Amino acid sequence: MDGSLTFGRIFGIPLKLHISWFLILLLISGSLAMAYFPDQFPEWSPMSYWIVGLVTAILFFGSVLIHELGHSIIALRDGVPVQSITLFIFGGVAQIGREPDTAESEFRIAIAGPITSLALAAIFLIFGRVLGTIPEVSGSALYLGQINLILAVFNMLPGFPLDGGRVLRAILWKFGGNFRKATHWATSTGQAVAFLFIGLGVWLMFSGNFINGLWFAFIGWFLSNAAQHSYRQVLMRDMLAGVTARQLMVQQCQVVSPKIRLDELVDRHVLGDGQRCFFVAENEHMQGLLTLSKIKSVDRDNWRSVTTEEVMVPLDEVLSISPDEDAWNLLRLMDENDINQVPVMENDQLMGIITRDRLLHYIRTRSELGY
Ligand SMILES: [Zn+2]
Repeated sequence: MDGSLTFGRIFGIPLKLHISWFLILLLISGSLAMAYFPDQFPEWSPMSYWIVGLVTAILFFGSVLIHELGHSIIALRDGVPVQSITLFIFGGVAQIGREPDTAESEFRIAIAGPITSLALAAIFLIFGRVLGTIPEVSGSALYLGQINLILAVFNMLPGFPLDGGRVLRAILWKFGGNFRKATHWATSTGQAVAFLFIGLGVWLMFSGNFINGLWFAFIGWFLSNAAQHSYRQVLMRDMLAGVTARQLMVQQCQVVSPKIRLDELVDRHVLGDGQRCFFVAENEHMQGLLTLSKIKSVDRDNWRSVTTEEVMVPLDEVLSISPDEDAWNLLRLMDENDINQVPVMENDQLMGIITRDRLLHYIRTRSELGY
C-alpha cells in the first residue's frame, strides 16, 4: 500500500500505518469521547472523555494489529512469508507473500485471526469486570471486549477475502480438491456479503442513520473490490503456474548500434519495422536496453542530437531473469518495479525478452480457451 509509514517490526515483519489510518483514529476517538462515553458515563469530566476515548481507540487498533499478528505467526510457522502488516481506514491487513500450499495451512492461517480476537475479547471483558471500581478503566475495557467480539464475528462472515471466506475456501478446496473452483465459490459469497453490506448501508441511510449507513456501504464497496481483485490474482496465478520465462520470451528485440541517433532509430526501426524494444550492442557486446517509453522520455526536438547509448538503460542497471524463472514471479517482479519488460539472460548471454503484453496475452488466450 502506498502512502504508509513503518513504525516498528515484530518477528521481522514491518508494521505500517497508512495515511488513512489517522483519519479513522480521529473519527473513532472523537465518537467515543463525544458520544459513546458521555452516554454511558455522564459523570466524567470532559478531559476524561477525550483521554479515555483516545487510549481506547489506540487499544482498539492494537487489537486489530494483534489479530493480524495471529494470522502472521501461523503463516510464518507454515513457511508462508509475511511482507508487512498495515493499519488503514478499514482496519488491518497482513500482506501474505503467497497463497498457502495446502488447504489445511490456509484454514489454520485464516482461523488464527478470529481466534485471537475472541481471546482478546475474553481478556478485556474479564479485565473490565475485575476493575469495575475504576469506571474509566472498566468502561474502556468492556468496550474493547465487545468490539473484539464484533471483530471476530464480522471476520468470520463466509465471504472471501474475509477470514470466514478463507476458511470456506479451505474447506471447499479440501473436499473438492480444486483450488480455482474453491476460490470462485468463496469470492462469489464474498460478493454476496459485500452487496448485503451495501444494501444494508443504503437502507440505514434512508432510515435516518446516514453516517452508519454510509460506513456500511463503504465497507461493502471495499469488500466487493477486494473479492474481485483476489479472484483475478488467483486466476492469473493458476494460469501461469508451471510456465517459465523460456516458454514466453520473445527474441524479436532488434540489436542496434550505440551510436545510432534517435530520429534514425524511430524512422527506420520503430515506424519502419514496427519494433518496440532494442538491445544496444556493439560487436556482439551487449551494452544496454532501450524501449519505446525511454525514447518517448526524450523531447522530440532533441531526437536528432541524441544517440541510443545516451538514453539506454545500461546493462548493469537492467533487472534480468533466468529462463527458468516462474512466469507468476515474473509478473509480480514487473508490478513491484513498475516495468513492462525484462530481459532473459543465461550465463551473461542474452536469450530474449519478456514483455507484460506477452504475459497478459498468454493469460487472455488461456482464459478464452477455458484451459
Ligand atoms: Zn483476519
